[in-house]
Amino acid sequence: SKRMMVAGNWKMNGNLEMLSHFKSSLPVFENIDVVLCVPSVYIKEAVGANFSVGAQDCSEHESGAYTGDISLSMLAELGAEHVIIGHSERRQAYSETNERVAIKAEKALENGFVPIVCVGEPLEVRESGNVFEFVGEQLAAILNRCKQQLDKLVIAYEPIWAIGTGKTASPEQAQEVHAFIRSELKKSSELYSQISILYGGSVTDVNAAELFAQHDIDGALVGGASLKVDSFKIICEHANKRN
Ligand code: 13P
Repeated sequence: SKRMMVAGNWKMNGNLEMLSHFKSSLPVFENIDVVLCVPSVYIKEAVGANFSVGAQDCSEHESGAYTGDISLSMLAELGAEHVIIGHSERRQAYSETNERVAIKAEKALENGFVPIVCVGEPLEVRESGNVFEFVGEQLAAILNRCKQQLDKLVIAYEPIWAIGTGKTASPEQAQEVHAFIRSELKKSSELYSQISILYGGSVTDVNAAELFAQHDIDGALVGGASLKVDSFKIICEHANKRN
């Protein structure tokens, strides 16, 4: 099976003291990729410990009059190797469309990053039974632009109703969508089985093992539980064991 990944998404949380605690406390995990996606101002400081460092967003432009935005070459200079793209919080609060997310993913690949591209449905879509259609559209935009370098891409399935709510998708609910994503990837690339599909949404040290036991769940994108080094470490240990 492919390598597991555990990625922490600090969102707009943390400080330098917390970062230094993470740097000194997280051990090496031999069998998995551990990534910490910190606020971009902390990237440089985060580099150099037992985890890789990621950003939480990037601009699709190389440079120019885009006040407040950060380019991929700037993120690379600081030492980031991964970048979360299309998180539902950005899709919702900053109106990022499927096409814009796909362009960012394409640019990230061109710049040598591993993009962790997020997809996932809101509650209304789940309740109306259109999850595959909704996620399928998000995915199609991404695949359309990233076909050439699909092996580098990481997909994160994050049902919006499970984010920060304590309401995790059941392992079966998550596996069902992951299997669907895998089948869509298969239509686009022979590399479909090598593409990591992470689950995100209220992952904790308590539920991680049963999620990782699912065939098409290749790791997790962790929000709240990535802010506590002990919880994050246990999630990493579960992933490390599955490999
Ligand atoms: P929580 O783990 O806090 O639910 O957040 C998930 C998430 O959005 C990770 O990107």
